This record gives sequence, structure tokens and C-alpha cells, in this order.
Amino acid sequence: MTYLEVSDLRAGYGDGQVLHGIDLSVEQGEICAILGPNGAGKTTLLRALCGTIRAKGTVRLDGTALPRRRPEAVARMGVAHVPEGRGTFSPLTVEENLRVGAYLRRDRAGVAADVDRVYGYFPVLEERRAQAAGSLSGGEQQMVALGRALMARPRVILLDEPSLGLAPLVTRELFQIVRTINEQEQTTVILVEQNAHLTLEFAHRAHVLEVGRIALSGPADEIRADEQVARTYLGIG
Ligand code: ATP
Repeated sequence: MTYLEVSDLRAGYGDGQVLHGIDLSVEQGEICAILGPNGAGKTTLLRALCGTIRAKGTVRLDGTALPRRRPEAVARMGVAHVPEGRGTFSPLTVEENLRVGAYLRRDRAGVAADVDRVYGYFPVLEERRAQAAGSLSGGEQQMVALGRALMARPRVILLDEPSLGLAPLVTRELFQIVRTINEQEQTTVILVEQNAHLTLEFAHRAHVLEVGRIALSGPADEIRADEQVARTYLGIG
């Protein structure tokens, strides 16, 4: 059985439909890249998955349908969303931001252990634990956003354009940590990105979205190796 199964997902804003029937299968422990140009609907897809916008169609996680339009219920099922623009709380300290990610949990000892677990992945955050998140660099803020998602011990992380505004080296470092988390915790990752070239290095499979439809799917290394595909769909090569 496919771990995350999206069938005929349609979604939009007001009268405007953005997603015109998305079918997507994601295996457990996979890093799944969603690529595509500006405005293709990548962010909208993540919003529809995590229940912050209305959607039709079905999404099943490990055989259970995700509730619609109830983001907290989706979060309780183990789906963590790291939105575009990170969504960190600037005046709160790094550690306070991490603890916000554990708001659904009551096990204090477990939460404390998970703060340390997050610092294990991001040592620089431990150094800055008492600093306001808003005073950090863009890359560090993205680490806080990811760390906050990890505090919920998610089964699936939805990561929306983490490279936005980051230098290529910082993005590479961040993707490396995402891969380490994926390998150590078998967390499934859905990674939305415009930076196709780098993303294809780190993802297992990739899907290219074009005007609200999946135009192409395949193993990331095959898509990367196919120059014509890379040129036609991704503007690289
Ligand atoms: P980008 O990388 O530019 O964010 P994207 O592939 O993530 O691109 P979306 O952000 O999902 O694309 O946008 C798809 C379409 O939905 C666009 O036409 C956009 O203008 C529209 N859209 C996005 N958010 C909203 C909103 N809150 N209200 C109305 N329309 C929206």
C-alpha cells in the first residue's frame, strides 16, 4: 500500500481553481520533490494537504483519510507543515519557537528530549537558544522552522520552498540536514522547490507541476540525467 496517496485533489481560492485533479503516490521514508514554475500550484498543493484551504478529492496517510479543512486534526495525524516564509515567531527565542511546535504534546520529559534532539541536528540553534528568532540569519530561521516541525515528531513533513532567499551553500547545508533527518527517522518529506537542480540531488522521486496538473513524475536521478526533460520542464541543462 502506498503510504501517502493523493487522488483527484482539486483546490483553489474563491471561484478560482488552482489544482485540477492531482494524483500522487508517496512511499514511506521518501523525499518527494514537487517542482515547477512560479504559480503552478505547489504551495496550494501543500495547503490542500495540510487542510488550510478547501479541497476536493482524497488524501490517505497509511490508509486513513486526512480530514478536510481541519489543520489541527491533520497535524495530530502526524503531518507537519513548514510554510513558505517560515512562519517563525520573531520576538520569541529560538527555544520558545521550538516549544511552540510541541503544543499538542503533554509529555514534558519527551519534549525536553526532543529539544535536545533538534539541537543535535542544528548545533548553531543551541548556541542561539536564548536569542530572538527574528535576529537570526535566513538560513538559521529556516532551521528554526524545520526544528519546530520536528518537535511534533511528524510522520510527514511538508516543506515549502526552504531555499527562498538563501545562498546556495546555505541551501545545500539545509538540504543535507533534511536528508539526515529523513535517513535517521524515516520521516517522509514532501519538498516544494523552484530550485530544481539542487533539489533533484537530494530527492528520491520528483513530480513536476504545471498549471495545477502533474506533467511529469519519476525517479529524481533519471529526471536529472535526462537533459531534454530538464530543459523542457525545469529550465535547466
Ligand atoms: P510560487 O513558487 O510562486 O509560490 P506556486 O507553484 O507555489 O508558485 P501557488 O502559490 O500555489 O503557486 O499559486 C498558484 C495560483 O494560486 C497562483 O495563480 C496564485 O496567484 C494563486 N494564489 C495563491 N495563493 C492565493 C490566495 N491566498 N488567494 C488567491 N489566490 C492565490
